Amino acid sequence: MKLTIIGTGYVGLVTGTCFAEVGHHVICVDNDAAKVKLLQSGGIPIYEPGLEELVKKNVAAGRLSFTNSTAEGVKKSDVIFIAVPTPPQPDGSVDLSFIERVARDIAGAMTEYKIVVDKSTVPVKTGEKVSETIKRYCKAQVDFDVVSNPEFLREGFAVGDLMKPDRVVIGVRSQRPVAAMKEVYTPFNAPIIITDINSAELIKHAANSFLALKISYINAISILCEAAGANVEQVAHGIGLDERIGRRFLNAGIGFGGSCFPKDLSAFIKISEQVGYEFKLLKEVQRINSEQMERFVKKITDTLWVLKDKKIGVLGLAFKQNTDDVRMSPAIDLCQRLQKEGASLRVHDPKAMDKAKSVLSNVTYVDDMNDVAEDCDAIVIATEWDEFKKLDLDRAKKLLSHPIMFDGRNLFDRAEMEKRGWVYKSVGR
Ligand code: NAD
Repeated sequence: MKLTIIGTGYVGLVTGTCFAEVGHHVICVDNDAAKVKLLQSGGIPIYEPGLEELVKKNVAAGRLSFTNSTAEGVKKSDVIFIAVPTPPQPDGSVDLSFIERVARDIAGAMTEYKIVVDKSTVPVKTGEKVSETIKRYCKAQVDFDVVSNPEFLREGFAVGDLMKPDRVVIGVRSQRPVAAMKEVYTPFNAPIIITDINSAELIKHAANSFLALKISYINAISILCEAAGANVEQVAHGIGLDERIGRRFLNAGIGFGGSCFPKDLSAFIKISEQVGYEFKLLKEVQRINSEQMERFVKKITDTLWVLKDKKIGVLGLAFKQNTDDVRMSPAIDLCQRLQKEGASLRVHDPKAMDKAKSVLSNVTYVDDMNDVAEDCDAIVIATEWDEFKKLDLDRAKKLLSHPIMFDGRNLFDRAEMEKRGWVYKSVGR
């Protein structure tokens, strides 16, 4: 099929590439001229495992191309996907100006029937607004359908998630676009749920809020574990083997962040408010999450006492492992809190240092994780990168003024660390 994706970011680029990989012809549009130029010259603006090879392969096969012209994308394709940002506003509601802009651009370029698919995460009833907007700004009086097709990929595992999705949700107002949408997704061999647009939009916010709730739940359990002398990992294992619960998203730590969970949670709370329901459960999820960070910082100050003039080595800046994304990263938040207390920082991340430089200044960026502890008073683990488990602990011990580690992601075995002479503080054990 001929497909266009408008917005070539974490979602748009991976979606477009995976669509091309299964044989569709895909045009990725972005209004960031530098990004399009980079992609056209063979560069990749984000780190996502396996993506670069797939982009190169599909560009070479002539199935994937990049442009900054929405009009070109609309003219040359039958199905137009919208994957632009839906950032939060200060009151927690969603800024829909990017979606509106694109809807108007699509309307201005349409000369024949098109299917316009919203892939961005949007509040329920946005589909109706997109539809009204296109109708209002389309001079050509052509038919079109708006479809909701929320995206569930996880950054860091996006290619795998796109190629083998758990499910594909398609929200429609009429049956007309269903066959084409099925044709887009049939190669992925996933269960396809056809529903109405409002339900599809709600499914995305309900799913992300539930996952955030699971993280806050285990973080609350971690407080109990610390108070009672239990081990949160054992508890997570014990409850997680129950198929009704599941082990995933039950890792205690410094809380969730990233460009999705915090904003989707705030948006869902706001949407509920607008329809007359106060979603107190989700407000508690938010409260537990911010308290979890405060508790971790307190653990550090309780141990190191005064942070002014102390040097701390921080491992991890990305909001989670396998990504270079630092948007709303708890690791960056933690660094800034430590700086506020007067600590100076040496920081390392396997992939996110370049992106972190725009949001975290006055720190020393260290290329090798094994050098991060140099002249430091403690090490802090802020992101759950697997490779941090291979940290040369003996070398770190020599470089530190005293072997102290605050492990915000429970990467190391507590008994083992204590046996090796570390003052080791983790979460919920
Ligand atoms: P992003 O910021 O990485 O990418 C968005 C892209 O859209 C940018 O490259 C930007 O330049 C481009 N853009 C903005 N306005 C445009 C316009 N008028 N015309 C053309 N291009 C335009 O964002 P993202 O992380 O890919 O998220 C996109 C949407 O998908 C959001 O609604 C987000 O909530 C949702 N989502 C994200 C994830 C994720 O893990 N990142 C997962 C599922 C859903």
